[in-house]
Amino acid sequence: DEVYLNGKWLKHDEACVSVFDRAFMLGDGIYEVTPFYYGKAFLLEAHLNRLQTCLNKIQIDFDAFSLKPTVKEAISRAGLGNKDAAVYIQVSRGVAPRTHYYPEKVKTTILLYAFPVTLEGFENKNWDVLVSEDKRWHRCDIKSTALLANVMANEEAVSRGFNENLLIRKGYFTEGSHTSIFFVKYGMVFTHPANNDILEGITRNFVIELCAELDIEVKEKAVHVDELVEIDEIFLTGTTTQIVPVNTITRVEKRVYTAKKDQITRRLQKVFFERTRAK
Ligand code: PLP
Repeated sequence: DEVYLNGKWLKHDEACVSVFDRAFMLGDGIYEVTPFYYGKAFLLEAHLNRLQTCLNKIQIDFDAFSLKPTVKEAISRAGLGNKDAAVYIQVSRGVAPRTHYYPEKVKTTILLYAFPVTLEGFENKNWDVLVSEDKRWHRCDIKSTALLANVMANEEAVSRGFNENLLIRKGYFTEGSHTSIFFVKYGMVFTHPANNDILEGITRNFVIELCAELDIEVKEKAVHVDELVEIDEIFLTGTTTQIVPVNTITRVEKRVYTAKKDQITRRLQKVFFERTRAK
């Protein structure tokens, strides 16, 4: 129950931030979640790289890679050195009188902690998901702590007994509330292009590389809800989700998709498992 806050390791109930912290007051911060399999970092460089890219996009002057040893220390201090876990990292612009513009000379607030996660058994999941309108802003490429639209969407799904949402913007699937979406059609894999409408998932990018290794063609092209009839398989990816197939899709009250096949999802899950559990 220890967290790292601005250079110090503290009990979580003793770690305090100012009420004028901009992540608290305005959602003016960037976060990252990076996984550890049996205590071993997986794609840590890619996660730190995305953190750096997002910080640069909102002009927060901070070296994300300086946190690399601290991320590893969080795992060992939490006694998770040989377990499955993740590290949450949050970089806030800092504490300043409330303004909409970026204040000058603020010191970033850095929060980081490790927590255990269940990464085993993802291959046994099969999710029922709900289509929701993508009500987020136009910079979904920025991993901002301002997650209200994602939270509202996911609450609707979970309270109705669904596992996740598939968000649609102008009828096109963008991503899940906290996952990336892949569609399989004619043996080819489709996923939304990495533009401002989605977060460029680290797992997404890894899965695209795995497809290349397995000679599975990938097209970065958005899929429309009306195209669901032609889709054979759908799977979701994410740091803690890993690779999970979609069983059914519901839109409003109506079932609009039921999985027909699972071959490509299973092939990808198998290599993903081998890579993440490699000794
Ligand atoms: N899309 C959104 C909106 C997310 O919040 C996340 C992760 O939390 C993802 C996609 C998956 O990204 P990653 O594979 O980097 O975890």
